[in-house]
Amino acid sequence: MRVYNFSAGPAMLPIEALTVAQSELTDWKGSGMSVLEVSHRGKDFVACAAETEQLMRDVLSVPDNYKVLFLQGGASGQFDAIPLNLTAVGDRVNFINTGQWSAKAIKAAKAQGLDVSVIADQAASGYTDTPAADSLVIDPSAAYVHYTPNETIGGVEFGYVPNTGEVPLVADFSSTILSRPINVADYGLIYAGAQKNMGPSGLCVAIVRDDLLGKARPGTPSIWNYAEMAAADSMLNTPPTFGVYLLGLILKWVADLGGLPAMAERNRAKAEALYGYIDASSYYSNPVAADSRSWMNVPFLQANADLDKAFVAEAAAAGMTNLAGHRSVGGMRASIYNAMPAEGVQALIDFMTDFERRNG
Ligand SMILES: *Cc1c(COP(=O)(O)O)cnc(C)c1O
Repeated sequence: MRVYNFSAGPAMLPIEALTVAQSELTDWKGSGMSVLEVSHRGKDFVACAAETEQLMRDVLSVPDNYKVLFLQGGASGQFDAIPLNLTAVGDRVNFINTGQWSAKAIKAAKAQGLDVSVIADQAASGYTDTPAADSLVIDPSAAYVHYTPNETIGGVEFGYVPNTGEVPLVADFSSTILSRPINVADYGLIYAGAQKNMGPSGLCVAIVRDDLLGKARPGTPSIWNYAEMAAADSMLNTPPTFGVYLLGLILKWVADLGGLPAMAERNRAKAEALYGYIDASSYYSNPVAADSRSWMNVPFLQANADLDKAFVAEAAAAGMTNLAGHRSVGGMRASIYNAMPAEGVQALIDFMTDFERRNG
């Protein structure tokens, strides 16, 4: 029996894609081997990787002057790879700090010798909101502006794209990529670990504008050098083959459902149902500002925090797993990525209603 898995990542994946992978697992394309066992240099896998890249381009409407890279080391690896690829030691960069993932990216940029200026920091609200769009003052001499469109732990999502003028915008899309349409041309660099909304862990996707390539610091490890990876079709070394294959299946699933506009409609409806229920309740609450609430990660508290462990355990017993909040914030968190059906959100709401009736 499949559960409704509310994990923040690795997260629930669409059963349709998993079922295709299962049916092909022991004999992929008549090869007598699984996709896990074939050479990444063989024609079948090279075609598979090219197809996944094309699907990514189609689904996200990636312009021709952007490279799509399949990398390893997770989004965390990019926290260091971005400074190595885009800057020299001592360069000025701007960061927006909306929570724990922003903070990790800032720490890495400092460790790579950058002159980091944090142009907005939401500490005053306890990282429960985003800065006003017109409050951002970009330093025109900055090599880039970095922000986190969706903070997975705090459940804080930008309702707008920061306008950085000529300064390249760099965005950690790990927990919101493919959840709604975006205009790739607004960004210099987009990166995302796959394990939230795109597939299994071990694969990280970067979408980089051509003019940002070729500036890597001397000594940058080749596998993290975007220009070298682009020139080698992301196969400088053995890529995470199963991840690339499964991403392709998931992108087909997204396309079959109507692409990102349809995903956005599904995700908006799920989020509205859950926030609407929480807001109408006097027992549950969500701390995030109304215009900054994440469609993907919904943290919530109950009036009696002593019952958090019971809530999480009883929900799991009822087929709704991984509802504990991040260890740093406590409470509960429901991650409702693309693969979470509306029925899963309704089941959670029904459980919350019943739990409050019994304990509230
Ligand atoms: C999960 C996550 C990361 C870390 O991803 P790894 O692939 O584990 O390195 C970074 N940023 C955000 C926004 C995330 O949600």
